[in-house]
Amino acid sequence: MFCRKCGKKIADNARFCNECGTAQFSENRLDSEVYLENKQKLSRNIKICFIILIVGVLFKQILLVWLSAILAIVALLRFFAFGHKK
Ligand SMILES: [Zn+2]
Repeated sequence: MFCRKCGKKIADNARFCNECGTAQFSENRLDSEVYLENKQKLSRNIKICFIILIVGVLFKQILLVWLSAILAIVALLRFFAFGHKK
């Protein structure tokens, strides 16, 4: 990496610049912290999306099962009602 003050090339894990002595680690840590936070937020969002998707799919299936069951019951009731009327 390069010194954030003088721009000289320094070791990637260096905490201070060898040339001017400027502390490097605070900004680097902040960057990595921000990066980690963003990554965590992203993974959390992905997890939430997955949960919503799974719940949605499950609900859809449950809803479809219930709908088909209700339709079947209604159809049977209609059939029996018509049968009784005739
Ligand atoms: Zn420097």
